[in-house]
Amino acid sequence: VVVIDSGLGQAWGERDRARYRVDPEVPGLGQALAGIGVDPAAVTDAVLTHLHFDHAGGWVERDADGELVPVLAGAVHHVQRAQWEWAEQAAPRDRGSYLAERYQPLSRAGLIQLHDGEGSLFPGLEVLRFDGHTPGLQAPVLRGETGSAVAFPADLMPTLSHGGSNWIMAYDLQPLVTFKDKQRFLERAAAERWAVVLEHDPEIEAVRVTAGAEGFEFTPGACPATI
Ligand SMILES: [Zn+2]
Repeated sequence: VVVIDSGLGQAWGERDRARYRVDPEVPGLGQALAGIGVDPAAVTDAVLTHLHFDHAGGWVERDADGELVPVLAGAVHHVQRAQWEWAEQAAPRDRGSYLAERYQPLSRAGLIQLHDGEGSLFPGLEVLRFDGHTPGLQAPVLRGETGSAVAFPADLMPTLSHGGSNWIMAYDLQPLVTFKDKQRFLERAAAERWAVVLEHDPEIEAVRVTAGAEGFEFTPGACPATI
């Protein structure tokens, strides 16, 4: 069982809840898994696209003593080395997006596995590496037995509004690298007919990409339940 990105999680104090508008109705990771019949202890692998807290804040929860501890205590947590080192040096430009208390418990528990670049983590799961949003963002691509695939580009393409190659978040550290990153991602997404999940889009779960005469075109839909 593989989990990709945890979201914000629920282990926040009142001030942060208000600031980030954490919805108390949305369950934390452990509860969410239990809600779909998956025992958190049965999860073998967690893929962290990157360590910004809105994607990686939910890998930990508070125990009875109020300590932040891993939710998936039996899972290998896969991260790109470049992203881990970037977070550790706490660069001023996106320092506010890294909270060591959210990812250090994973390291202390020996659950972190660092990777250098692209490749297959195991059969059916490949990661692509992009550096424009933040160094060492990895986008997992899950491949099914029928040849269909689902990709999670995370903040390379957070919403459908960022679908076109030119529509890049001002927040990205290297916008021109994002431009090339996205072009490369979308070419493969179109050629291989991936369902592309939009982690930040409030309305659209996923899109299919086609290469049109005037650029890429996007057809919204649901993330396929099976591949
Ligand atoms: Zn991010």
